[in-house]
Amino acid sequence: MEHIIIIGAGPCGLSAAVELKRRGFDPLIIEKGAIVESIYRYPTFLHFHSTPERLEIGDVPFTTPNEKPTRLEGLTYYRMVAQREKIRIHLYETVTSVRKVEGLFQLETTDRFGEVKSYESRAVIVATGYFDQPNRLNVPGEDLPHVSHYFQEAHPYAGLKVVVVGGNNSAVDAALELERVGADVTVVYRGEVLSPYVKSWVKPLFESSIDKGNIEMHFSTQITKITERTVHLVTREREWSLAADFVLALTGFRPDRVLLQSSGVQVNEETGAPAHDPETFETNVPNLFIAGVIAAGSRANEIFIENGRFHGKAIADVLTKRWN
Ligand SMILES: Cc1cc2nc3c(=O)[nH]c(=O)nc-3n(C[C@H](O)[C@H](O)[C@H](O)COP(=O)(O)OP(=O)(O)OC[C@H]3O[C@@H](n4cnc5c(N)ncnc54)[C@H](O)[C@@H]3O)c2cc1C
Repeated sequence: MEHIIIIGAGPCGLSAAVELKRRGFDPLIIEKGAIVESIYRYPTFLHFHSTPERLEIGDVPFTTPNEKPTRLEGLTYYRMVAQREKIRIHLYETVTSVRKVEGLFQLETTDRFGEVKSYESRAVIVATGYFDQPNRLNVPGEDLPHVSHYFQEAHPYAGLKVVVVGGNNSAVDAALELERVGADVTVVYRGEVLSPYVKSWVKPLFESSIDKGNIEMHFSTQITKITERTVHLVTREREWSLAADFVLALTGFRPDRVLLQSSGVQVNEETGAPAHDPETFETNVPNLFIAGVIAAGSRANEIFIENGRFHGKAIADVLTKRWN
């Protein structure tokens, strides 16, 4: 039997594990992908918008030669912390159910070979993030093979017509990278102006590309349909279609709460946030905690590494008091 199982080896799950180790526990993390799988799946050449010290976990220093770390530096850092702290992690194993039976949690998992395993634990920390559930456009054609909610790098799109959907950092960064490789880029956004979260140092570059006619921008515009070669657009004034070889719908993510709900955690109908004590991150199910972006309501971008990394410390303090 385990004392504490953490579901997810993202920065916030890892942070919880380090804090628990510092207090004498030896938690087990079960992760369905690689260590910090979400960061691994970021755009290849991404620079974090945070400075390195704001991404640190367990007070392990993160220093980089430049002001903002690259994705690769992030991967190296979190991997190094997990290895140095000797955190037990079962990789490529997905937790499929969590149930509380007579005061103990029963977890079921499936590994990459399809083998089903069972675990028992006194406490569970759910730190499953939000990267698996993109905000969908909900339009016909969204599941066609040339439409994606993830952007890796621009090279495959060189010389092609690409429609990027969104008005936040992911869309703006992708559009600029696509412009640099010679793609024909159109950005479609339902907002009237760019998101206020767009990095202040990137916004002028994007605006300059629009002014120069290198990126075509359509604000206050919705996509109504995607076909194999076109996207259909509508504004208050008109309806029209654009040719598109690829569509990148970079419209953000939202946490998947099915696992939490199936284990008895209540979710607030209005905010979408799981019921939890904001001081301890314990849910309405005793000894079931949440850490990281899963704790956010409908505005998932209010919790990120910079603040979600502290959740584990609060949880470790509670469990130390409770069990020592
Ligand atoms: C492009 C991009 C750039 C960003 N830049 C920054 C930045 O500069 N600064 C910042 O603070 N934040 C940034 N963020 C946000 C940040 O990545 C997230 O807030 C952060 O990853 C949340 O950490 P987490 O540990 O809560 O979740 P995640 O990092 O998403 O980790 C969750 C983990 O749980 C695993 N998992 C999910 N379900 C299961 C399951 N059923 N069983 C087992 N494992 C499971 C996943 O594989 C994943 O590894 C950025 C996000 C994106 C998309």
